[in-house]
Amino acid sequence: MANYLQRQSSWTCGMNMASGAKTRVECRLLIRTFEMIAMARSSECPSVAFPMAPEPTSPEMDLAFRSRTNVSSKRSDYISWDEYFMSVALLASQRSKDPVTQVGAAIVTDKVIVGVGYNGMPRGCDDDDMPWGKTAEDPLENKYLYVCHAEMNAILNKNSESVRGSTIYCTLFPCCSCAKYIIQAGINRVVYLKDKPNNKEMIAAKLMFEKSGVQYSQFAPTKRKLVLDFGKLSIDISTSPSTTSSGLSSV
Ligand SMILES: [Zn+2]
Repeated sequence: MANYLQRQSSWTCGMNMASGAKTRVECRLLIRTFEMIAMARSSECPSVAFPMAPEPTSPEMDLAFRSRTNVSSKRSDYISWDEYFMSVALLASQRSKDPVTQVGAAIVTDKVIVGVGYNGMPRGCDDDDMPWGKTAEDPLENKYLYVCHAEMNAILNKNSESVRGSTIYCTLFPCCSCAKYIIQAGINRVVYLKDKPNNKEMIAAKLMFEKSGVQYSQFAPTKRKLVLDFGKLSIDISTSPSTTSSGLSSV
């Protein structure tokens, strides 16, 4: 799965060293939806389920072109709130050191992000000293007893007094432990990207959500992908200060 994600999925990062003269750092963030649906259904990644979403009906590239040339009216190809917040959760997931599962979460109150988290070791526990495997005979040598999940970190790292009544965007359906945190924190809506329908922890989480009145729904993107290109952004800035290009495009 790690290789699959690195090679095929939403995110690719690379550092290209130009011959002696300069260093070009390009990091591309690709949020794919339709392509991932197809891949999720292939034998390469059979356990991942993505939401079905309609094929784009608008010529996204034309809209992007119009947004660059017509600067007298507002852009029409901007991302939705859900796409924005799920993108933040996905971006956070790329901070994770976990070699198998990278999860991100973002908590939103009144369209304002008040907490972000990803799965990682507790503060003070050096990433290089802690175990990241999951198959050792001794549970103390596996990651599970140590890793803090994304949802828990997002809640504990909140920058508001309360997250009561908020929505949490998760790249993976919360486990039963995080579901308890979500419920007890007063979060009343969960938007998730991926699910593992047969996972007992997630089944238990859904049961608790339903009994507690926490709504949950799968993310339904409208764009095929979203690209963050730091390299393009830096080139645009250096060569054409008046350009309207942001280094981010969607198709
Ligand atoms: Zn969890």
